[in-house]
Amino acid sequence: MASAPDIPDPLPTRTDVLIVGAGPAGLTLAAGLSQLGVDHVLIDRGSMVRPGSKAAAVQPRTLEYLERIGVSARLVQAGAQGRGFRLHDCEDTLLTATYEGLDTPYPYVLLISQQTTEEHLARRLGELGGVVHRDHTFLEMAPDFPGVTATIAGPDGVLRALSARYVVGCDGVHSAVRTAAGIGFPGQAHEQLFAIADVRLGPGTDAVPKEDTTFFLSPDGMLLVSPLAGGQHRIVGRASGPAAPTADDVEMMLADRGPRTGDIRVKEVVTASTYRVQERVAERFRDGPVFLVGDAAHTHSPAGGQGMNAGIQDAGNLAWKLHAVLTGLAPCELLDSYHRERHPIAAGLVAFTSQFAKLANVRDPLAGGLRNRVLAAAGAVPGFAGWITAKLSQLDLGYSQEPDHGAPRVGGRVPPRLVPSAGLRWTLALPGGEVPEPPTEHGVLAVRHVPGLGTPLLVRPDGYLAAHGVPAASAVVLDRLSQYLPLNPTR
Ligand SMILES: Cc1cc2nc3c(=O)[nH]c(=O)nc-3n(C[C@H](O)[C@H](O)[C@H](O)COP(=O)(O)OP(=O)(O)OC[C@H]3O[C@@H](n4cnc5c(N)ncnc54)[C@H](O)[C@@H]3O)c2cc1C
Repeated sequence: MASAPDIPDPLPTRTDVLIVGAGPAGLTLAAGLSQLGVDHVLIDRGSMVRPGSKAAAVQPRTLEYLERIGVSARLVQAGAQGRGFRLHDCEDTLLTATYEGLDTPYPYVLLISQQTTEEHLARRLGELGGVVHRDHTFLEMAPDFPGVTATIAGPDGVLRALSARYVVGCDGVHSAVRTAAGIGFPGQAHEQLFAIADVRLGPGTDAVPKEDTTFFLSPDGMLLVSPLAGGQHRIVGRASGPAAPTADDVEMMLADRGPRTGDIRVKEVVTASTYRVQERVAERFRDGPVFLVGDAAHTHSPAGGQGMNAGIQDAGNLAWKLHAVLTGLAPCELLDSYHRERHPIAAGLVAFTSQFAKLANVRDPLAGGLRNRVLAAAGAVPGFAGWITAKLSQLDLGYSQEPDHGAPRVGGRVPPRLVPSAGLRWTLALPGGEVPEPPTEHGVLAVRHVPGLGTPLLVRPDGYLAAHGVPAASAVVLDRLSQYLPLNPTR
């Protein structure tokens, strides 16, 4: 697939926003800024989209955001739809968490390799007029009030200076931007190594659930078996050593920790590696003109398929805010809300995935048996599986401080069923109409009439509620937009 045109040169000498790193987070941010018409430069030290599947699951909330920048339909076409998650004790199902019935246009886990996701993001970026300056490495930066001047090594080895009003580090776990800004990355790296293999299974495949990602909980440790796009399966479990698992290793993991009913054979190991889980959250997601997005800001266990998804939503949170500040629609303080909103989400994800990993990896047979009975009992409690799917699908994530009375809350997600997406515009949703109609556009605002709505709603460009009970006149709302911004630290 053609990706965004790669231009070796020239690198501009100034920009409003320098984005370092063209992984999923950087590409999403660049596509959003391109769509909003914000001047930016995106660099990556790599010469191409990295091959490999890494993040193999795109969550519904991510697809809701990616629809706003015109990427979701293609991803859905390219991927496979997983039904949800299961926890198993050998072949006994302890708990099933299905995405079917979730209040979203995307009630499934989209199974698609990270490489394909990145290729689609890069292609969309190209369509929006954006480019990736590949083979360009960020080295350091110096204050250059009110922004910074970054030093970038080009493909020819020549160092270039680039002045930027803002710099966004989307450069992954070992972020050079984070280091240059002196932002701490506290947390821990676990001793335990995990083996990950994307394989084609042969005889015995019927023993693993076809549509669900399944966590087999056993005294030998947790084993994850997940269908992938293209008929492959991902197998993840404790590694016995640093070497990448072979087909024999994977077969042994399946025999020891997976379903006992089948003698599952591995036809082909497509990719395999080992990794060590780190759980870290950056101290600050913003420091003056510097922002951290994606793995540069947070990292945790990949089990549960959350990391890339969180990074894409960081980018969605930041894109409209940078646009609003750079175009004078909002005061600079709006940018502080990026840390205020996204840091607790990241900290919550790290805590959730860490607790889940601890629970899944209980080794003591007595404690494991008790855990399995508790999980089976919890799975039978109405609402428990729904709570888990809301969490994993990231549909329950939001920034609301208001009590939940069932109606959209300020800072809470507005389901697209209620107010459909209007790209990266603000949406003024007005009660009225028989059927949903296409929006009319008033500058940065789209106005929609929504059947059955009780009160006018103002929805942020990233799909969260800015205010309810707003005036019905678009000109008045535009005039008062600053009143509806998340500027207040207590909100
Ligand atoms: C084995 C594995 C399985 C995973 N499974 C899942 C999953 O199922 N679901 C999920 O959501 N997440 C998963 N993740 C996590 C996911 O892969 C990451 O969260 C995601 O890649 C982070 O995206 P990013 O854009 O923040 O950073 P990255 O993908 O790390 O991209 C950073 C980019 O910055 C560039 N860069 C770095 N330094 C510089 C520099 N100095 N100058 C210029 N460019 C630079 C790099 O070349 C790279 O392109 C998994 C991770 C692993 C390792």
